[in-house]
Amino acid sequence: MVVVLNRSIRTDDKERIREFLQTRGFKVREIVGEEETIFGAVGHASIDLREVEVLAGVERVIPITKPYKLASREMKRDDTLVRVAQLRVGGGRIAVIAGPCSVESREQVMETASAVRESGAVMLRGGAFKPRTSPYAFQGLGEEGLRYLKEAGEATGMPVVSEIMATDQVEVMRDYVDVLQIGARNMQNFDLLKRVGAETRPVMLKRGIAATIEEWLMAAEYLLAHGAEDVILCERGIRTFEPYTRNSLDISSIPVVKKLSHLPIIVDPSHATGLREQVPPVALAAVAAGADGLMVEVHPRPEQALSDGPQTLFPQQFERLMRDIEAMSPVVEKELLQLPHTAQRPAAVAAKGASAPAEAGALEVAFQGQRGAYSEMALSRYFQHDEVVPRPSSTFRNVFQAVLDGTVQYGIVPIENSLTGSVHENYDLFLQFPDLRIVGESMIRIRHSLIGQPGSTIGDVRRVYSHPQALAQCSRFLENYPDWQQIPFYDTAGSVEHIVTDGQPGDAAIANVDAAHPYGAEVLQEDIETNPQNYTRFFVLARQEDATVEAPQKASVVFSTPDTPGALSKCMQLLSERSVNMKKLESRPIPGKPWHYMFYLDMELPPDMETFDAALEDLDRESEGLRVLGTYRASTRTV
Ligand code: PEP
Ligand code: MN
Repeated sequence: MVVVLNRSIRTDDKERIREFLQTRGFKVREIVGEEETIFGAVGHASIDLREVEVLAGVERVIPITKPYKLASREMKRDDTLVRVAQLRVGGGRIAVIAGPCSVESREQVMETASAVRESGAVMLRGGAFKPRTSPYAFQGLGEEGLRYLKEAGEATGMPVVSEIMATDQVEVMRDYVDVLQIGARNMQNFDLLKRVGAETRPVMLKRGIAATIEEWLMAAEYLLAHGAEDVILCERGIRTFEPYTRNSLDISSIPVVKKLSHLPIIVDPSHATGLREQVPPVALAAVAAGADGLMVEVHPRPEQALSDGPQTLFPQQFERLMRDIEAMSPVVEKELLQLPHTAQRPAAVAAKGASAPAEAGALEVAFQGQRGAYSEMALSRYFQHDEVVPRPSSTFRNVFQAVLDGTVQYGIVPIENSLTGSVHENYDLFLQFPDLRIVGESMIRIRHSLIGQPGSTIGDVRRVYSHPQALAQCSRFLENYPDWQQIPFYDTAGSVEHIVTDGQPGDAAIANVDAAHPYGAEVLQEDIETNPQNYTRFFVLARQEDATVEAPQKASVVFSTPDTPGALSKCMQLLSERSVNMKKLESRPIPGKPWHYMFYLDMELPPDMETFDAALEDLDRESEGLRVLGTYRASTRTV
């Protein structure tokens, strides 16, 4: 059962409830969610739920109807983020694990690790104990293999995943492996599940070759019931009558598992298909269906691999797949998970977090708007949610000011929309805050929803409030309702708050679907934007002294040119000579100098920083007032 506790429960009442459940034979697990704290109570005992309901501090009691309890969505509404070293798997991120089927030699695993790392993998896989169909096939290097795997993981900064086949391998695995993989053939090896669960380290549980989803979740339940907290499910195809592929990938298991369980689910397209050429399309399908990640076999020379060569990608194929996933991720409203030190997040984050007095590690990040604003969504995409405190600000200027004052460590502001173009106010603010730098970039898909009064329906609507751009972006939908009055409002999420606090029947708003919940409003219709290819790019800003970004991929600069023929073309020529690829060029009037312009330029960084520095020196010589607004990691490989 799930025991939902009162928000203001006293500690002694809470302990009394825990003790009551324990003495009645239940195992109790406390789960602190975003909105409520619960006790999950599981065990053989049966009890009249009313006995629990009447205890002081209990808000309500919900029976869990599924045979799996700890793994079920009924137990926990929020998605679980599985912690693997500094990474969090799940929740809006796509984690890509890659590596060879088997560890074959030190060189092979090192070479693979650096290639997959370079392409954006965040974890390294490699089998040292191999479950092979034939006893005569290569069985893996055992502990020697684990040693190489760990060495390669450390050299490239990636945690490692490896299969444990038997309970007596627990000790040796402990020294080398970050994530214990339970293979398909062992999914119902209950002794192994119990032993691995008790290790309390992250586990990746593959779906059995002929297991139903329920049997799979019951296997996860074994792990959780024996102590594991961090379980990642891995769909790897099931045995069907189709012989063309090695297995049949059950793509629908992804949304089904998401509905039934809070655990993250990743997909192994390599074992699912058995054929290299099938791996990329199937991997993309898994991402499109909502998978939290992928595990892909990659080998520098797959034709020489000692196991599973035919399904193993060449490093170049993997690189291409990663590009495709990255390009696709905003469509499914996700981002590729990246390793902290090549971050997404600037390197300064760690140092900042450590010195934060209240909650160590918690980052405060300012955004413009109210709870549920698109900027807040961009913020939680960019930063991992369990470590940021979003700080709403009334204006863009206040976001810049809060970063400058140090009230927050970072700010996030929209800079460009794919349909409506640049947000010039923010470009101009960068000039007014010369001590701030761009340290990151994030892109989200804009999906508008019609949001109404609590309990209302679309038939009740008479007036629609929203930001003029949002109204314009939903014109085709609004044409269906010519009688509705359209009322411009300063902010999308603000319009939701306005209609709810004002309480006028017939008022509705257009905003992000996430803006409904904080104000108790009703989502009347989702996805009402005319053009689904609607993306907004955001810049993350920090103070100059905190702006260390490792391995930046893009730079944004601003400059003006002398008023002479060919001045701009000369600047462009210099960049071209250094092979610097320009991504965007835009002119803006210079305040106080009518009919004079400055140019905002985004460019892709060349592979070495010396070339970039030289290009900047050239540009500085040829232009006027060159300023580097920042160098940062690209949000997608548009570079
Ligand atoms: C593996 O991932 O190395 C493996 C053997 O996969 P599965 O257990 O899914 O067959
Ligand atoms: Mn394999």
